[in-house]
Amino acid sequence: MSLTVLMNAGPWLSVPPPGYGGIENVVATLVPALRRLGVRVVLASVGSSTLPVDERISVFADGQFAALQRPYNQVCGISQAHLAGVVRELHARDDIDLVHDHVEAVGLATLTAMGPDAPPVLHTLHWDLAKHPELYGGLDGGDRVRVNGVSAAQLARAPKALREHSVGHVHLATPLAIDAHRRPGVAKGEHVLVLGRITPGKGQDLAARLAQRVGFPLVLAGPVGPYHRPADLAAAGDDARLNPDVRFFHDEVARYVDGDRVRWVGTVAGRDRDELLAGARATLFPLRWEEPGGTAVVESLALGTPVVAIARGCLPELVEHGRTGLLTADEEELGDLVLAADLVEPDECRREAAARFTPAVMARRYVALYDQLRRRSTAP
Ligand code: UDP
Repeated sequence: MSLTVLMNAGPWLSVPPPGYGGIENVVATLVPALRRLGVRVVLASVGSSTLPVDERISVFADGQFAALQRPYNQVCGISQAHLAGVVRELHARDDIDLVHDHVEAVGLATLTAMGPDAPPVLHTLHWDLAKHPELYGGLDGGDRVRVNGVSAAQLARAPKALREHSVGHVHLATPLAIDAHRRPGVAKGEHVLVLGRITPGKGQDLAARLAQRVGFPLVLAGPVGPYHRPADLAAAGDDARLNPDVRFFHDEVARYVDGDRVRWVGTVAGRDRDELLAGARATLFPLRWEEPGGTAVVESLALGTPVVAIARGCLPELVEHGRTGLLTADEEELGDLVLAADLVEPDECRREAAARFTPAVMARRYVALYDQLRRRSTAP
């Protein structure tokens, strides 16, 4: 059965993303695996995207990520302009069997409003929505619009209207998991790594405090708001503090960053990221939010690095305590668990990733959901 999917990755970053990128990373992982299963993919993103696809549409030449710092109505304007392009395309042709949408709220409302003749829409939730029920108010579209989560925990917390439209969850994946069990082990260094946006929910302040108290070398990798390099943040003026993540870094994290035991290295990408991750003694997820999907978690397992984490959000679904990582609900115990991370077998982490978190596993799950939605939408 041939299938053409319009994959909407939004206007914010190119696909694959240049360094940090959540949704765009997921799309870049999923699309090649879907195409290997014979799915035709029309990618709606920005002109600078280089991911090989069957066709592409774009409204903006380049990613609009920097605009996310602008007032809310301008951000919505960009999102709407991008979606107008998607909708124009949907009206202009009849070969799109399904829309797989990754753009938050605004996108779904627009696609919902398209009427009964439009193709079915699968919307993947990427965020922890418990705190933002208003974003999905008035979700309708009957059987034409369905949502999936990236973990069972995320769906369980989602507003009722979303759960009623849910077709289940699909865990995230990483190309690093392909043949991960066959990869030779890498010598582990002393450092513990926190990989992700520097933001209160990811708990870098707790990681840094524990590193200083317990005495382990800690590397914090990831952007602080729009700043990818320490030098850029240092050169930024006072206005930078308008960004809550910049404030969090200055007020809660910076006091522990001594450039020796605790270092912030900015955003890491490509081979640098993989080497930092594979050589870490453990990755640490000192979560203060309900992590919805955790790409960095499955990447860590794929590279044979045990995960030490607060057992929140998707973590207990992705990590088995004692076998692929160590989990606790207790912030203070987290520091002791870091010291025990060597007890976890890197081979076991890689085997788990190769079995559960490959792009092929994710793509097969999505094709099953696409089929389910198409059957539903064509049922008499
Ligand atoms: N990432 C990266 N470089 C960094 C920090 C993060 O490449 O310095 C990547 C990370 O490897 C992962 C993604 O950005 O692929 C973050 O996704 P995740 O689901 O872990 O967190 P999110 O930021 O989407 O909540």
